[in-house]
Amino acid sequence: TRVETGNGQKPYLTTSNLTKQFGSFTALSDISLEIYEGEFVCFLGPSGCGKTTLLRAIAGLDIQTFGTVTQAGNDVSSLPPSERDFGIVFQSYALFPNLTIHKNIAFGLENRKLPKADINNRVNELLELVGLTSQADKYPAQLSGGQQQRIALARAIATNPGLLLLDEPLSALDAKVRAHLRHEIKELQRTLGVTTVMVTHDQEEALTMADRIVVMNDGVIEQVGTPLEIYRNPASAFVADFIGTMNFVPGQANGGDILKMGNVELKCDAENITERGNITVAFRPENLLVQEGDDKLPNAFEAEVKYMEFMGAFFRVDLLSKQTNSEAHIKGDFSINMVRRTGVKVGDTITVSIPQDRLTVFPGVN
Ligand code: ATP
Repeated sequence: TRVETGNGQKPYLTTSNLTKQFGSFTALSDISLEIYEGEFVCFLGPSGCGKTTLLRAIAGLDIQTFGTVTQAGNDVSSLPPSERDFGIVFQSYALFPNLTIHKNIAFGLENRKLPKADINNRVNELLELVGLTSQADKYPAQLSGGQQQRIALARAIATNPGLLLLDEPLSALDAKVRAHLRHEIKELQRTLGVTTVMVTHDQEEALTMADRIVVMNDGVIEQVGTPLEIYRNPASAFVADFIGTMNFVPGQANGGDILKMGNVELKCDAENITERGNITVAFRPENLLVQEGDDKLPNAFEAEVKYMEFMGAFFRVDLLSKQTNSEAHIKGDFSINMVRRTGVKVGDTITVSIPQDRLTVFPGVN
């Protein structure tokens, strides 16, 4: 089997069988993970899934109950944070309020007792890198949230750490600043080539920024993969449901490449069906096609348009198909051109189809 190499070549950070218990509660269960040099990895999952605990174990801020962490080939499992090589940015900026921006960035460098001129040069370089040269003499409270987070980032990378840890760095910012900073952090990371781990509960952040995403749930890893792999081939119903929008319709499989979804027969890529009996057929709204004119699409079924929402670039459509299953509501996203041409409106019965390579099958009924 091919080893997933992400962006880089060799593992830089590994966790082996990492487990963290708080009393009788298991927050992390047997987490084994390899992160490659220069990679940008996101830990993604719902609140309480353990992603912050995993990041803190990597930093040494929380000590694992079992398991090991290695960084650059060294076992760092029992080292305190101060003896590990990382910079970290928290959600809450965590700048020193009584120090100027310049002093905030210089902090880690001064701890290393570098010559004053070198420190000044490095701080100026970092201020330029995050585009805040003119703010050097201000105090954190005089800066916007986005600016403060840029400073926190500059401070985190000041000593050229081998590892950059980002704990929901964008969550406290408003949508516009967040989108902007997302792009800036990604650019900066690419320029520096620093191995980066970011915790987020925001799937869009993970999809746009990560080389690989680690999807977590209830203290375990559900799936590790590139954004495209995770989106296209979710390994579990949890992943399919957590990332993007997914239709789940009960069906049956008999081991062949034909699935039944109510009265509808669907041809499916054979590798998708190893299951027999009751299954859940999953497909994304944007993969539904509307049949127009006389062209007969495969895997087609009729459905009534119950609700339409104008989303700008497309319509979000709620369909009800008696053919597919008792009362299965199916979400569809149709491009405007398609809808305009066909003039689809609420109450219409239309024929839609699911391309066979866009079907995913999960065992049992979810
Ligand atoms: P969020 O996005 O809400 O921060 P998370 O995925 O980062 O979620 P963690 O903060 O890692 O989740 O917490 C995982 C679980 O461990 C939660 O159920 C949390 O209540 C529990 N937990 C975390 N820290 C402690 C602690 N110090 N003592 C007891 N339980 C804790």
